[in-house]
Formats: sequence, C-alpha cells, structure tokens
Amino acid sequence: MAKTVAFLGLGHMGAPMATNLIKAGFKVNGFDPVTELLNAAAAKGIGKCSSPQEAVNNADFVVSMLPNGAAVECLYIDTDKLLDDISYKSLIIDCSTISAASSKRLIHDAKIKGLHAIEAPVSGGVSGAEKGSLSFICGGASSDVDKAKEVLEPMSSNIFYAGSAGAGQTAKICNNMLLAIHMIGTAEALQLGADNGLDTKVLTDIISKSSGCNWSVQNYNPYPGVMPEAPASNNYAGGFMVKLMCKDLGLAQETASQSKSYTPLGSLARNLYGILNLRGGSDLDFSSIQKLFQEAD
Ligand code: NAD
Repeated sequence: MAKTVAFLGLGHMGAPMATNLIKAGFKVNGFDPVTELLNAAAAKGIGKCSSPQEAVNNADFVVSMLPNGAAVECLYIDTDKLLDDISYKSLIIDCSTISAASSKRLIHDAKIKGLHAIEAPVSGGVSGAEKGSLSFICGGASSDVDKAKEVLEPMSSNIFYAGSAGAGQTAKICNNMLLAIHMIGTAEALQLGADNGLDTKVLTDIISKSSGCNWSVQNYNPYPGVMPEAPASNNYAGGFMVKLMCKDLGLAQETASQSKSYTPLGSLARNLYGILNLRGGSDLDFSSIQKLFQEAD
C-alpha cells in the first residue's frame, strides 16, 4: 500500500515538491491556509485537507515547507500544537529555512513527546523543486535522516547530512549568504559592462568561461534578456523572493553574531537586499538586485 505524506505549506516550493511525491507513488494529503493554493494542489492530485490536524492523521511522513521560524514554531508547538496530533509512526521533516535555534526547538520538543523530527532545508529554488533536483541539507539524528531518504529522494539530486540538529540550517545559511554575495557582484559587474557599451550576453559568455564565473552569472543571470528562462527575463517574477533572501541574510547575521564571526560582505548584502525590499521589491525574485544598479546614476 502507498505510504502517506502530510504536506504542510503548498507555496512556491511546497506545491511542486508535493507534486513530485504524487508522481513517485505516495499518497499526499496537503494543507495550506490559502484556499487558492489548496485548490491548485488538489488539481494535481494532492488531497485537500481543511486543517493541519486532518493532514497529519495517520501519515507516515509529515513534511513542512513554511515561510519562517515563527510559522514553524506556531504550527508544531505554540498555536496549532501539531506535535500533539502526530502519530508515533510518523517522521517529521521540516524543509523550511529557519534559524538553527528554532529547528533545534522543534526537534527537541518532538523528541520529548516520543516523536522523530529532522531539518532538511533545501537549495535549488523553484526550478529545482519542479524538476525534483533539490539539494536537501539535513540535520538531526543520522538514523532519522536515513529513514527520510525514502521521501526526499523523489524530490532531490543530492541529500547531504550536515550533522546534529541545527547543523543543516547553519550550512544552508552559509550557502545562501554566499549566494547573495555572488548575485550582487554579478549584477554590479554586468551593469558596469552595460554602462560601458558591452552586450551583456557577450559579457556573460566571457565571464562564464573566465575567472569570474559563478552560479549566478551562469545559471540564474540577473540581467534581463540574457537568459530567456531566468526570472530576470520575466520581470523578476517567480523564483526566490527578495523578502526570503532578507530573512536568510538576517539569520546569517544572527548566527555570525552568536559565533562572533566576521562577515562584512554578508552584512553589506543584507543592507542592499534590505534597501531593495523597502523600495517595493519584496515579492520579486532575488536577482532583481540588478535594479539597484540600473537605478544608480
Ligand atoms: P511561500 O511563501 O511561497 O510558501 C510558504 C507557504 O506556507 C505559503 O503558501 C503559506 O500560506 C504557507 N503556510 C504558512 N503558514 C502555514 C501553516 N501554519 N500551515 C500550512 N501552510 C502554511 O514560500 P516558498 O518560496 O515556498 O518558501 C518556503 C520555504 O522554502 C522558506 O522557508 C524559504 O526560505 C525556503 N526556500 C525557498 C526557495 C525559493 O526559491 N522560493 C529556495 C530555497 C528555500
């Protein structure tokens, strides 16, 4: 009989991830407070539940993909108190990007109640979620991460084990701080070229095969028109929203302050994304940082 997954949070990432689980033969029961998202998911074969409690009933796995740590803690512990409704046979897999502290709290509180939980934040964006090629960066007990692989594999290309609770979130935050930094550097370099008469497609080709090459220039180019499939060529719609990058850069700075680490570029990146957010860019893809350089004169 098909195993059952409760999928909580059917937004940009959650909906395509849940759809890949359906394709892999799981029975998926979904919940999201936004009715339109629930209906769109139902059209793809995801069971429509009217509450998170209904979704987790008798599930083998509970997967959550929520916007932030407050949402995760409210759902499982403080408001919905979902840990009280989850069966002992279920494995909880929280894929949201949240602080290591919030994640440790969830995993610890689950353990107190005799449940098993891991963190599995992802890298790869919406296109990775759609293609089933995400990287999962897991933290928690290694035996629980091994059990989670059955459900993570249909959604992934890579499953990493970073270490005990919190380690997956810390690794994810290090990655995203670096992503923001090279996206900003890429936008700055492309604008310098454009302002000096270069064709940004030609410049992209040169950088992609030279020492400045990085993931942003090669796979997720921020300059409109260079890559037809990139959010930059679609008015920066979809993708990974500026407000989520601001959240991640805030988490990186919190982590740095706790460990007394020196992260000047992470701090600058947080400020630049904060400016973009305040200027109305919060729901745009994070490659829209290009606009800051286009607007400068
Ligand atoms: P999103 O805002 O599109 O989706 C989050 C969904 O959670 C929303 O639909 C919201 O209604 C739902 N939600 C909120 N509270 C809920 C609750 N109590 N129960 C059930 N659903 C609830 O965000 P997203 O882009 O899908 O990102 C989700 C997570 O993935 C975030 O933590 C983000 O940082 C991380 N992430 C996103 C990307 C990306 O490219 N979008 C990439 C990597 C990681």
